[in-house]
Amino acid sequence: MFALRLDPGDTVPGVGLAFTDRLGGRSQGSWSSLNLGRVGVDPAVHDNLEIVRRELGLRALIRVDQMHTTNVHVVHDAVDGQQCPEVEADALVTTEPDVGLLIRVADCVPVLFASEDGSVVGAAHAGRVGLLAGVLEATVETMRGLSPAPLRAWIGPHICGDCYEVPEPMRDAAAEILPATRATTTWGTPAIDLGAGADAQLTEMGVHVERHDRCTRTDPERFFSHRVDAAAGRQAGIVFCTGRVGESRKVGLG
Ligand SMILES: [Zn+2]
Repeated sequence: MFALRLDPGDTVPGVGLAFTDRLGGRSQGSWSSLNLGRVGVDPAVHDNLEIVRRELGLRALIRVDQMHTTNVHVVHDAVDGQQCPEVEADALVTTEPDVGLLIRVADCVPVLFASEDGSVVGAAHAGRVGLLAGVLEATVETMRGLSPAPLRAWIGPHICGDCYEVPEPMRDAAAEILPATRATTTWGTPAIDLGAGADAQLTEMGVHVERHDRCTRTDPERFFSHRVDAAAGRQAGIVFCTGRVGESRKVGLG
């Protein structure tokens, strides 16, 4: 179910996060099995969201209509069952406790954020278009408006720079904006390294970055990949704060 799961207290006090994989859900066929894509297309997505929400112990999983924009949606007053507001955005930020911010991906880069005081969390969908347009910078700026504490970011599974083949003009255009993205595939053709670009951009902004970016294209048993199958499902990055910063899994020892 999870390629990475960090419970509150594992890293940042009062913050939990996870990157899902494709295992442990109810979807069939090319969506098998933990597809967290659009509800209207695969009828099992609703069940899959419930499986993940319960596993993480959250009130709600908030999703948006991802359009490769730099729009950041700040979630206020989330209520039970509010699964999919009709908001066009590619990043989510909240200070609401126990509300999971969910970003769907299948080769694009999921980036999760938390302030080190545990008071604000964020999630961003950084594909080529959004990354170059500045969706991560917009997320960081929004979070810094809500907490003065230093920020951390976790980069999740996505297509790697050895695999993300693009036409040469596209590679050059990306490298002009973000030089760290310049890459070459293992078979010698132009490529873009989205993870390196995200890492460089966030580090430049003073954000502490952790990379958990296994390649989605070369591990089809574990991950959905749009490059492998255009009808693929979606995995997700999810982050939440508990509002209880003194709490950790080791609380019983205190
Ligand atoms: Zn790869």
